[in-house]
Amino acid sequence: MEKELLLMLPGPVPVPERVRLAMARQAINHRSPEFGEVYADCVRCLKPAFGTENDLVILSGSGTAGMEAAVANLGRGRKIACLANGKFGERLYDISCRYGEATKLASDWGTPLPLEGLAASLEAGAEVVTMVHNETSAGILNPAHEVGKLCRKHDALFVMDGVTSIGGDVVEADRWGVDIAIVGSQKCLAAPAGLAAVSVSERARERFCDSPPYYLDLAAYLRTAKKEPMETPYTPAVPLFLALREAGLLIEEEGIEHWAIRHQRLAQAVRAAAAAWGLPLFPETDGLHRYSNTVTAIRMPGGTTDSDLRGLVKRLGVVIAGGQDHLKGKIFRIGHMGAVNAPEILAALGAVQAAMHRLGCPGADDGVAAAAAHLA
Ligand SMILES: *Cc1c(COP(=O)(O)O)cnc(C)c1O
Repeated sequence: MEKELLLMLPGPVPVPERVRLAMARQAINHRSPEFGEVYADCVRCLKPAFGTENDLVILSGSGTAGMEAAVANLGRGRKIACLANGKFGERLYDISCRYGEATKLASDWGTPLPLEGLAASLEAGAEVVTMVHNETSAGILNPAHEVGKLCRKHDALFVMDGVTSIGGDVVEADRWGVDIAIVGSQKCLAAPAGLAAVSVSERARERFCDSPPYYLDLAAYLRTAKKEPMETPYTPAVPLFLALREAGLLIEEEGIEHWAIRHQRLAQAVRAAAAAWGLPLFPETDGLHRYSNTVTAIRMPGGTTDSDLRGLVKRLGVVIAGGQDHLKGKIFRIGHMGAVNAPEILAALGAVQAAMHRLGCPGADDGVAAAAAHLA
């Protein structure tokens, strides 16, 4: 059998055994009380992670399906202002270009978003705003509350990609004025890849565009979710729903506040390791933009390459992420999402530290020990 690797990526993440086992069963009918209950449990467990009392539906597709559903149902033919300081912010812009009149409000990856530009766009009539809350490509947490306030002031709809913040950090979609928030199953929820959950405000529903895409018609998902038993419009990925329910129950059992605080503590530990190694974190933060609590982006140490470093780490049984696009070779990223805890963090940091040592770029100090101080 292949050696099982420890995935310390910003998705997919290790899936707890209870969640995996939930899928090992005979098929069930998706138009049945049994499935309806599974769907209802998923929704009940996820709403607190979104910080919402809005309706929430689940699509059979990855996080990007949720992003496209949001933009396509709210943005067709409309002026869309797309904030971007990383790969996923740019993806929301690319999707928006397919449906509406999109404007990109970009800053360099991992640097604060141009909020003055957003205010100007809203003055100029932007009707929809898109933002990634936790920009996974750069390890930066963007100011959802501030952006939500600006949207409300101008009566614009606010689409928030919460794919790597929901379940991994404090998210208060309702208080922040988020109209559509999106999460993917394979990130902080510790479920297998393939589902996207989308919350929809009353305001958003009232402003759905005409001619939505057929498969991603959110009105159809909302309608069938109101049925008794709950349903989806088309055959859902039932085994993934079974797994997501189990993952949701794990979060419910730990308590969402606790689940999120654990992520914060793990992030502090990883940041302490980087500091001890003398490696700067990649993002530029300010009073509003903070370091991500679910993925840490660290500048590559001098004297080695991305493939040497991550290759050696992988030979030690741990998979970490590199930089995407122009950040390839400049940063490496450690994901700390889902059900992971001190043992996985220490294993990942130990592997990185050992690899740096072997490659002749040892850190200034003992990063593993610095991290451990935050973990016990
Ligand atoms: C992973 C991710 C997505 C979705 O990617 P999929 O591969 O479609 O699941 C979207 N936004 C962010 C911020 C992500 O990290």
